[in-house]
Amino acid sequence: MQNLPIRLASPDVGDEEAEAVKAVLLSGVLTNGPRTAAFEQTFASRHGTAHAVAFANGTVALTAIYIALGIGPGDEVVVPSMTFISTATSVLHVGAHPVFAEVQPDTFNIDPADVAARITSRTRALVAVHYGGHPADLTELSEIARSAGVLLLEDAAQAHGAEYRGKPVGGFGHAAMFSFTPTKNITTGEGGVVTTNDAELAQTLRLLRNHGQSRLYHHDILGYNWRMTEMQAAMGEIQLGKLDAILRRKHENDLYLRSCLAEGDLYQLPVTRADRTHPYMLYTLKFPAGVRDSVMDSLMESGIEARLYFPPAHLQPVFRQRAHSLPVTERLAAEMLSVPFHSRLTHAELEAIARGVRSAAESARHHQSVP
Ligand SMILES: *Cc1c(COP(=O)(O)O)cnc(C)c1O
Repeated sequence: MQNLPIRLASPDVGDEEAEAVKAVLLSGVLTNGPRTAAFEQTFASRHGTAHAVAFANGTVALTAIYIALGIGPGDEVVVPSMTFISTATSVLHVGAHPVFAEVQPDTFNIDPADVAARITSRTRALVAVHYGGHPADLTELSEIARSAGVLLLEDAAQAHGAEYRGKPVGGFGHAAMFSFTPTKNITTGEGGVVTTNDAELAQTLRLLRNHGQSRLYHHDILGYNWRMTEMQAAMGEIQLGKLDAILRRKHENDLYLRSCLAEGDLYQLPVTRADRTHPYMLYTLKFPAGVRDSVMDSLMESGIEARLYFPPAHLQPVFRQRAHSLPVTERLAAEMLSVPFHSRLTHAELEAIARGVRSAAESARHHQSVP
């Protein structure tokens, strides 16, 4: 029935992006130009923030936030472990110490109660990662940050256009980072953006990404070359124009996949809190322990690319020396599995995914109950 492999990512990129990039190439201005400025403006207004600053990628954007806020050696930053590695390695890059917190077992988002318990006199910031794009508990996290006198930051790498209580993410903390790698809902190949309402912070971020240069060959601070190219920015403008349609398609595909998978006791479907929207950058199911691995193997064998997003950061060799154990996160890492959910999936492909998941889960449970 199923012929072609179903990939995890398939960017919605076509002629419009190709034309926009070609126009930039022929214009002669390849970096530091009007396309970047326009992309930043459109991105800020789409997310309801005063400023947006574009970067070469999301990881350096996050690192630039820490530098700009003066976070460094001796400081602690609370991050979830259930995230992409650079949420935590960007803290290391500035010499600060990432303190890993647990996540909630249904949304996989950072657990406010656990965050509160990990704040010390050295804590400077909390990072709310919006797992799969589904907004974290921003009200509770804001309150914890405010009462502890620390900054709330958003790792919104996966959450373009996601809403919390009717407002897009990106403006709930002091700054937020968005990424544009090809697995995200919109892409520029590589790319990142910081949104903020703090004009001074935005200004420092602009200096940091461009050699600390306030005017030609005048370098105020130690900076970097972390610029986004004009080609990326031009592509980003087109992608941003497609964002609402992509989110709408994903919403419809979620309803369809749910109807094919059917709720039962074989797996848990993605959870969306009533006061937020889910942009489904990831579509993450949860299986009983022992079932997940055989479902993953069986899907991969049938050409459906399924993966654990993410192997916990605190267990990675780069962090093993300094990390404490996180029983909830470690248990979830044996239960979670993300299946393909890019915006171009057809109904036939969604049906194939549902069939693959159901039959693998049923046969794995059968094997478990028959020793
Ligand atoms: C993608 C991602 C990043 C890193 O962004 P890059 O643009 O790849 O550097 C950081 N955090 C999370 C949660 C991500 O999903």
